[in-house]
Amino acid sequence: MITEGKTPNLLGLPQAGLEAFFADLGEKPFRARQVMQWIHQRGAGEFAVMSDLSRELRVRLSQVAEVTLPRVIVEKTSVDGTVKWLFESGAGQAVESVFIPEPGRGTLCISSQVGCALDCAFCATGAQGFNRNLSTSEIIGQVAHANRALPRRHGGEAAVTNVVFMGMGEPLANYRNLLPALELLVADLGYGLSRRRVTVSTSGIVPHIERLGDECNVSLAVSLHAPDDALRDRLVPINRVHPIAELLDACWRYAAKRANRFITFEYVMLKDVNDSPAAAETLAKLLSNRPAKVNLIPFNPFPGSDFRRSPEDAIAGFQARLRRHSVIATTRKTRGEDIDAACGQLAGKVSDRVRIRLSEKNKRTVTA
Ligand code: SAH
Ligand code: SF4
Repeated sequence: MITEGKTPNLLGLPQAGLEAFFADLGEKPFRARQVMQWIHQRGAGEFAVMSDLSRELRVRLSQVAEVTLPRVIVEKTSVDGTVKWLFESGAGQAVESVFIPEPGRGTLCISSQVGCALDCAFCATGAQGFNRNLSTSEIIGQVAHANRALPRRHGGEAAVTNVVFMGMGEPLANYRNLLPALELLVADLGYGLSRRRVTVSTSGIVPHIERLGDECNVSLAVSLHAPDDALRDRLVPINRVHPIAELLDACWRYAAKRANRFITFEYVMLKDVNDSPAAAETLAKLLSNRPAKVNLIPFNPFPGSDFRRSPEDAIAGFQARLRRHSVIATTRKTRGEDIDAACGQLAGKVSDRVRIRLSEKNKRTVTA
């Protein structure tokens, strides 16, 4: 676990925070810029290597601050090149990240919480319950680790070119720690990723979709999974708090804030549950003539789940029906199945889970 106690972990401080830290030390703001580049671009793990700082300042920093990455418990590599890491998260718990190499890009799928309180019916993380939010250092530490562990790309670019918050947890339920992590990902002196290459995936915490649109308009993916409230109430229980119409309104406003960028709608294909031609028709009505793309995700089974994956022809038929209504639709290629790294299979290790049940009454607890 990364201690967020007395010694500040500079890994999780975006530029403004780092400048305030150096101001407290009586140092100039450009020190913050130098240290940011050392940590996030040059992979420094200790102050001693930061050769453009004076020896005196390096010694002082090592006394008052740290750069601590999460500890890796296990690394697994799939036959398809996907890499999964299990990071220690304190009290015998762990979270997972997955690196997916593709021609021209390297996508890192990262976690935002230990477990998840939102309890979606088809999700291994949800089945485990919720323990706690990850700190900003623990979120960004997953990217920092991957870039240190993986070889650089041709031309010297860092291995991670895209980041998606599709690992364990609901990122918008950890908004306070998510926002500085996003700032570091898009900062020129941080990871320098364009907002397009950073995707927050949410099951639909509407008030925080609005905030994100104003504060850091990265790409948005929304876990829709059902075309009507009756079914979505069952599959994605947060729908009882923020139903489809309210969610879609927030999505269209989000898209409008930045040159009508497309929202991706994730739709897990569950056999005989949400994969009928009628469901495709209803979904098409909701999304046609909107800045929307649908990404169909073949369900990935996990121990204890009763759902089954829709057959390939049902998925292809569903996709074709959406396209007939001019809705852009793709099917996600399943990667890393042999190492349990596919969507929805990330279980990490959640112990001492805090029993939070989603209901109207306790929604404040869930989204704090
Ligand atoms: N909490 C966020 C992000 C993490 S889940 C969210 O729900 O959007 C990332 C994606 O994987 C979501 O679309 C989620 O619905 C999907 N998913 C969850 N369990 C799955 C499973 N067993 N098979 C396929 N996709 C799954
Ligand atoms: Fe949480 Fe997302 Fe899983 Fe739902 S699908 S339980 S929001 S991690």
